[in-house]
Amino acid sequence: MTDRAPDAAADRLRELLRASGALRSGHFVLSSGRHARHYVQCALLLELPERAREAGTLLAQRLATHRPDSIVSPALGGLVIGHETAAALGVPFRFTERHAGEMTLRRGFEIEAGSRVAVVEDVVTTGGSAREAIEVVERLGGEVVAAGAIIDRSGGGSRFAVPLESLLKLGLESYVPDECPLCAQGSHAEKPGSRGA
Ligand SMILES: [Zn+2]
Repeated sequence: MTDRAPDAAADRLRELLRASGALRSGHFVLSSGRHARHYVQCALLLELPERAREAGTLLAQRLATHRPDSIVSPALGGLVIGHETAAALGVPFRFTERHAGEMTLRRGFEIEAGSRVAVVEDVVTTGGSAREAIEVVERLGGEVVAAGAIIDRSGGGSRFAVPLESLLKLGLESYVPDECPLCAQGSHAEKPGSRGA
């Protein structure tokens, strides 16, 4: 499921994910309808501010070598972790948001021309929102020096023209229900979003 190279930050993040119930192992139906052994809900990791702060500090350590002057995150997924990462780096935090279908920078936020920007997301799978945020920053004259994410689910394929720094890489392994080995063992798949409903 995960990279097993020694990595204290990844180990610590895995602990935080487990403690917050954000990373669960079992047999799940994903929103795509596919079945999987693992399920991640990053919002639960960030539910406790002290855990969000720790995750932001760890991600800031990953991004520090790129010397960003500011952090930009696409709303909503990147807001909490982007803010905590910016706090740990001591730089401004701004966010992009969709307006009439277009990713935009609003609310009086500005990007200084030529400034170094890191774009931070919670989870990168296809990287769509982060890539749109990168385009917004570049259109405004900022230099995107890196992307950051708590979890990289992209499966290792580079999604961006800039380096992606993540705390944890998770495999994408999932199955169409007809080919699910867990179903084949007679296990029943759980819809993780239904917990507590
Ligand atoms: Zn299954």
